[in-house]
Amino acid sequence: MSPGGLGEFEFIERLRRRCDPNGALVRGIGDDCAVARVPAGELLLTSTDLLIEDVHFRTAWIDMHDLGRKSVSVNVSDVAAMGGQPLSLFLALGIPADLSLEDLDRFTEGVLSACRDYGAVLAGGDTCRSPRGLFISVTVEGAVPDGLQVTRDGARPGDLVWVSGTLGDSALALRELLAGRQPPEECLRRHHDPRARVELGRTLAAQRFASAMIDISDGLFSDLGHILDASGCGAVLRRDLLPLSPAFLEFQQHQPEVNDLALTGGEDYELLFTSPPQHAEAVRALATPDLPLTEIGQITVSTDGLRIVDAQGTLRMPTRSGFDHFA
Ligand code: ADP
Ligand code: MG
Repeated sequence: MSPGGLGEFEFIERLRRRCDPNGALVRGIGDDCAVARVPAGELLLTSTDLLIEDVHFRTAWIDMHDLGRKSVSVNVSDVAAMGGQPLSLFLALGIPADLSLEDLDRFTEGVLSACRDYGAVLAGGDTCRSPRGLFISVTVEGAVPDGLQVTRDGARPGDLVWVSGTLGDSALALRELLAGRQPPEECLRRHHDPRARVELGRTLAAQRFASAMIDISDGLFSDLGHILDASGCGAVLRRDLLPLSPAFLEFQQHQPEVNDLALTGGEDYELLFTSPPQHAEAVRALATPDLPLTEIGQITVSTDGLRIVDAQGTLRMPTRSGFDHFA
């Protein structure tokens, strides 16, 4: 690879010089392995995401700095969904020869800025040439106090279903981009620079408020389905209670069909969790003006399946379900 004539080792050296050292790292970029400490009494969390040009992103639509940030955020979001703190990130890149050095620098600057936001450090990776298109693989390692990790299988009948933030903004932006139109700016920001809800996830875990949790990457409908499958439960979801942003609501006035996107659209990266009803007031008190928390339904027995209703209790199922790469 030689973006702007830069060789692999020069690229790695540039990256190494821009990385902050971090207390958890005994050894970062530049040796055969990163060497890190897991805090005493905590469990190691690890998750990987792959982002492929023209499958997950189009360089014509997303700025390289945002792409770097998003690559980190979508990965860190998985740690947030377990109630953990991200510590180290690993970045493997397949770089096409036609990527400019300027674009590569903006991308790595975005990666490093997101790492700083989450209190994590870039600890290593791999760098190769790609014959066509940019490949980005990000792995995150995080930690959670032993016993506080929040898995998908802990939901029980009677638990309330909660979601953070607002739903459908990212999917609305993608819909407009695909149609060749300019999306509302607030929705576009959510699509290009989502924020992983690390603090919220950690608090819910530390207080033992969440019985099950997942981050919404494939869409509420699909991701709630994962919690229900893992927990062996059903749920009733109130469509009319789904939290929508002002930009989404305004758009929906003219095109009501976008309402389905709050249920089935992907890439919200909000936290979806279940919580026993006795914690409802305490959970509500965790909401902030920047990050609302909304009760959107209740867990039931598995034979009920997933029922989506309105305020009158009438069934309101979506017309299409979440994104499946193999569909
Ligand atoms: P090796 O041949 O042992 O795999 P490399 O030459 O690939 O070593 O990497 C040297 C160092 O640079 C390692 O610490 C590796 O983790 C780091 N590194 C390589 N590519 C990247 C990258 N894209 N982002 C972060 N660190 C990287
Ligand atoms: Mg290598």
